[in-house]
Amino acid sequence: MEIKNAEFVVSNSSVAQCPKSQLPEYAFIGRSNVGKSSLINMLTGRKSLAKTSSTPGKTQLINHFLINNNWHLVDLPGYGYAKVSKSTKNTFQKFITAYFEKRDQMVCAFVLIDSRHTPQKIDMEFMKWLGEHQIPFCIIFTKADKLKSKELQRNLEVYEGEMLQTWVEMPQYFVTSSNSASGKDEVLDYIEETNKGLAKAF
Ligand code: GDP
Repeated sequence: MEIKNAEFVVSNSSVAQCPKSQLPEYAFIGRSNVGKSSLINMLTGRKSLAKTSSTPGKTQLINHFLINNNWHLVDLPGYGYAKVSKSTKNTFQKFITAYFEKRDQMVCAFVLIDSRHTPQKIDMEFMKWLGEHQIPFCIIFTKADKLKSKELQRNLEVYEGEMLQTWVEMPQYFVTSSNSASGKDEVLDYIEETNKGLAKAF
């Protein structure tokens, strides 16, 4: 899929205020600093559609972007930033879970994982929660250019091994680099494939 149009629609802090539109949506979520804004900008071919936050974890907003006039890309707040207070964390979790529980038009959540890191508890728990709530998701491994191909392969194997402790099979995943745009076509083709006919159905 080629992204011809990408426009900002609205930012808000509650699922009740998300657009009334029933267009299919694809949500992007991950730990702060995982490379989410860079990935969104890389996928959409816009330099600063998603703002890279200088204070990670501070902007806890749900951002809707309209893509090619037929689906929404949803930029969800980064989680797991240590300096956010406990009460902020609780509110934050509630509004994230409310988003996933209430947005029936959400087709797939892309859970971003930094390909350099070993499996992190917070990501594992989050994916387990998605699974328990039957919310479809894929993994996007980010920053692949930061590793040599052997290291990357090894990290992916370690990750898969950890996932298979909980899951019967490894969820669908993509390996990306916002610097080299690798993985871009795969992610966009997946969205195009799963979105076929949906825009009309909703
Ligand atoms: P966010 O907090 O998840 O939105 O993360 P950002 O997109 O702001 O990225 C966090 C940092 O990682 C920034 O310094 C980016 O330049 C860097 N970064 C993001 N994606 C990549 C990537 O694919 N390759 C490399 N080398 N650096 C990246």
